Amino acid sequence: MEFVNLTRRTEIGANSYLLQIAGRNIVLDCGMHPKERGLAATPDYARIPQGTVNAIVITHAHQDHIGSLPVLTRSEQQALVFLTEGTRRIGEIMLHNSVNVMMRQREDDNVLEYPLFTHRGIEFSRSMWRPAPVGVTFTLDGERGAGDGVEPTLEFYNAGHILGSAGVLIRGEGRTIFYTGDVNFESQTLMRAADFPTEGVDVLIMETTRGDAPLSEEITRQSEERRFADAILAAFARGGSVTIPVFALGKTQEVLTMLWKMRKSGELAHTPVYIGGLSTKITGAYDALAQNNDRSLPELMLLHEMAPYVLSGNEVHTFPARKHCIFALSSGMMTENTLSNFWVRKILPDPQQSLFFVGYADPESPAGKVKAAKPGDRIVLDPDLPPVERRCHVDSFNFSAHSTRETLLRYALSLRPKKIVLVHGDPPAIAWFRKELAAQLPDTEVVVPDPGCTITL
Ligand SMILES: [Zn+2]
Ligand SMILES: [Zn+2]
Repeated sequence: MEFVNLTRRTEIGANSYLLQIAGRNIVLDCGMHPKERGLAATPDYARIPQGTVNAIVITHAHQDHIGSLPVLTRSEQQALVFLTEGTRRIGEIMLHNSVNVMMRQREDDNVLEYPLFTHRGIEFSRSMWRPAPVGVTFTLDGERGAGDGVEPTLEFYNAGHILGSAGVLIRGEGRTIFYTGDVNFESQTLMRAADFPTEGVDVLIMETTRGDAPLSEEITRQSEERRFADAILAAFARGGSVTIPVFALGKTQEVLTMLWKMRKSGELAHTPVYIGGLSTKITGAYDALAQNNDRSLPELMLLHEMAPYVLSGNEVHTFPARKHCIFALSSGMMTENTLSNFWVRKILPDPQQSLFFVGYADPESPAGKVKAAKPGDRIVLDPDLPPVERRCHVDSFNFSAHSTRETLLRYALSLRPKKIVLVHGDPPAIAWFRKELAAQLPDTEVVVPDPGCTITL
């Protein structure tokens, strides 16, 4: 049994891994790197002998896990793609949006390799997709049941990260391998905690995103929600609006749910909420799957209850910031040419306005620069435009969609697999897990597969 790391660097980028088991080739995730451009943004699919993939598993619809799927399905047309219904719905929206982004980058940044696939290419890829429910064993042909006992089987488990996110249990050669994908063992405001296998796993392939972030004991989801609500009320009392840069997928729906709770309790009775077009489409998918057992509040229809206004790419330049409004705009890192980047350019110099960060921001991203800046600093939000002075009120909140490293470690310790493969993390994050696991699970072999390398499981 072998495992090939198809990523190009040890980091959270274009996640993709090849698992060779019982003579079958299974690809785990097909990501696209959020910062690279062109083919460098895709996994190194050249390491897979062409035409040999039997199945592709997509754990969730974030770009770093699904973004290059149409590239792989174009050359591996015999394969079936397994994902949950949530990932199917959201993945389709994300991929079509990605084509539009690539077309724009081809024009603006002269990336001649773009687009890596087209809207028609997504339609073709979709014909290979086979949605599967959690908790059901199926074969690589998509047939339910354990099959003949020789062919490998797959089974999804809720991962608690975003709607439809799943870890996958692979059985074959008399062994079990569990790939976590991105996981959260703590309940978020909308998503419920992961529900992963508790025993019988021989090899654990585990994400390590927050390995470099020590747990702060005093912060809980509830206390952070309260602090967030109080900060919004204080911002309104100062006479301004609140801007929240959010990822369109995941964080937007969590923030909308927090705002709904405030509205329900009477704290935000008639506050207008503005979101972008992509966020609206994805929130529609969350509403369509409100009964999904990976989310709470099965009656909550966010678009109906919150009735957010949709701010278009044209309006964002001229629309006034006003007062007592909430602008939850993507992207979360305020990347150039996104709604939040355009919008923050307008509110950053205004001391009456407030800017709240609710997730991780790369220190090099515009959001990372604003977070690190002091009042009065001039910040480059877009290298093609003049810098902007930071005068607005800035605050940060911790609403991660990833498990704390301590909880993830506890999971690995209780599972006691024979082997653990560490993926999806920056080198310091992986190093923390490697050290802790070596000390606390001396009988378990811990492996960090180098990019492009093959390891025997
Ligand atoms: Zn993710
Ligand atoms: Zn990820």
